[in-house]
Amino acid sequence: ANKSEIVLITGSTSGIGLAVARHMAEAGHTIMLHGLLEPAEGEKMASALAAEFDVRCGFSNADISTAEGARQLVSDTRESVGNPSVLVNNAGIQFTASLHEFPAERWDAVMAVNLSAPFHLMAECIPAMRDANWGRIINISSVHGLVASAQKAAYCAAKHGLVGLTKVAALENADAGITVNAICPGWVDTPLIEPQIKALAERENIAIDDAKARLIGAKQPMPVATNPAAIGAMIGFLTSEAAKTISGASLPVDGAWTAQ
Ligand code: NAD
Repeated sequence: ANKSEIVLITGSTSGIGLAVARHMAEAGHTIMLHGLLEPAEGEKMASALAAEFDVRCGFSNADISTAEGARQLVSDTRESVGNPSVLVNNAGIQFTASLHEFPAERWDAVMAVNLSAPFHLMAECIPAMRDANWGRIINISSVHGLVASAQKAAYCAAKHGLVGLTKVAALENADAGITVNAICPGWVDTPLIEPQIKALAERENIAIDDAKARLIGAKQPMPVATNPAAIGAMIGFLTSEAAKTISGASLPVDGAWTAQ
């Protein structure tokens, strides 16, 4: 039987993070759910996941936009399910505006959640992984960690930064059985992309479905959004024995977007 890991997934009450949590729970791992929900709501989600897959599952709603919040999340995890052996830095936010009109507080917020939080969480989790001589860290970057799009100054800067941070962490921990990789998705079907679809529909006065197709097709050669469950399956593979020498990589799941 496979070893059961303790998997901390940031931003796992929605979208990609929730799909990753479900995939890893189905594989029998212990799960730490995390996201900005009321405690009662989050605890309910955790109990439901635990019951559905017969695994242990905790919940924290620590706001990881500060270093203290990130540290709080790791201490909540240790208290409720134990020391994480797998860390998935998934929580992320988006804001779109031209660089010269980008509100400074939005820049700060995107950098805090999308880049600084993974830094603080890795710093907090790596020592115990090194002691165990085993660990898996997966950072959810984006195609915007590899190429840019207009209107996404903070997001592209943070996601490119996360790719660099991934490489440093992979190098520093290559001696200790720890792999660190980034996944770089194109469009994924989650609530994060809904405001962009809605804005396009309003701007062009077209139906939501048409706006979605147009948004995806603008840059991504394969005209369909990735199912979040596919990212879960990929993380299942990256945490498996077969993937133990995949480290420092930035893996696109982008319908050929970055092949151009
Ligand atoms: P989502 O909006 O569905 O989920 C985001 C999660 O992050 C939620 O659980 C939310 O509670 C949590 N979160 C946000 N800010 C937080 C904070 N300050 N503290 C604690 N938790 C916070 O988004 P998603 O689409 O599932 O995105 C997940 C990751 O995937 C993000 O890093 C995103 O940039 C990346 N990504 C998404 C797409 C896409 O098309 N959806 C594409 C490429 C990359």
